Amino acid sequence: MSLYIDIKYLHNISHRLEAFKKKGDFLFNCRCSICGDSQRNKRKARGYFYRGKNDLYYKCHKCGVSQHFGTFLKNFDPNQYNQYTLERYSEGLGPAKAHKTPTLKFEEPKFAKKTDTKLLDSIMDRLDTLPDDHEVIQYVTNRKIPRDTFSRLYFIPNVKDVVQLNEKYKESIVTSEPRLAIPFLDGDGKLLVVSLRGIRGESLRYINVKVDEDAPSIFGLDQVDPTEEILVVEGPLDSLFLDNSIACAGTSFGKIDQLPIPKENITIIFDNQPKNRDVGKLMNKYIDMGYKMVIWPDVPGKDINEMIENGLTSEEIQAIINHNTFQGLSAKAKYAMWRKV
Ligand SMILES: [Zn+2]
Repeated sequence: MSLYIDIKYLHNISHRLEAFKKKGDFLFNCRCSICGDSQRNKRKARGYFYRGKNDLYYKCHKCGVSQHFGTFLKNFDPNQYNQYTLERYSEGLGPAKAHKTPTLKFEEPKFAKKTDTKLLDSIMDRLDTLPDDHEVIQYVTNRKIPRDTFSRLYFIPNVKDVVQLNEKYKESIVTSEPRLAIPFLDGDGKLLVVSLRGIRGESLRYINVKVDEDAPSIFGLDQVDPTEEILVVEGPLDSLFLDNSIACAGTSFGKIDQLPIPKENITIIFDNQPKNRDVGKLMNKYIDMGYKMVIWPDVPGKDINEMIENGLTSEEIQAIINHNTFQGLSAKAKYAMWRKV
């Protein structure tokens, strides 16, 4: 089947495509190499490789280019393209250019997210649509949350409305204050959990609503590239400061070994709380299992957001992480010292 040849060659060049990400079984996203995509926003990626019938196609939603994968490859890397056509011939398939773009109308993929975010949009407002003087914008701005992540966060005017996502919470959510809402989506964009952070000093800081009872409480699965190094932190808001990062909220931090991500691609970052016994136990467990782990040096704060609020930049924290990641025996030794601080 030619689809597999297309995908094989896409993988061959994927490391040279900016912001390349697998979005679904036969759906890949990257910054458009043809038009260069948005120059203002380096995170914008509007090029998509998607499945036609038996072939892969490319479409960019910025410049509108729409072509067979073979045509894309020919322009991107003529050498790879030559091998590609040979391989296609040996499988009895014609040259790629013989295939015209499918008549199948292709719309910007919304994935499974579509229905979920529709419901979200009906009970909440996405932060990038709200004015600067809005209560929740002031809250996240005070916490120095990066503006380019606002599109991943919501404001819910009445926390009780969240029971529309799961009726089971009808009895337990009895207040009606506004909150910051953090949706957890899986790799296909399906809504798993919504975490609701109090913004008016409520004593119950977080309310977590599971849309699907069996869903893991992991934030950011929709955003990460599992083939690259992934930073696993505790707090969803902390993960917003780091590239290719997910957050395992609550008890999910005890189940990192069950993540669908290869162990060698994971670096675990616990909060900086040397006195916390439960954290200590988990750190020991993962060090013994051979995971890479950050053992914090002397840093101003117990979590990443706090370090940012105390003046460190994302880049500085990233550098601290790079210099303080340990594994195996050296992790054990560093851990023992860290606990004595
Ligand atoms: Zn383009």
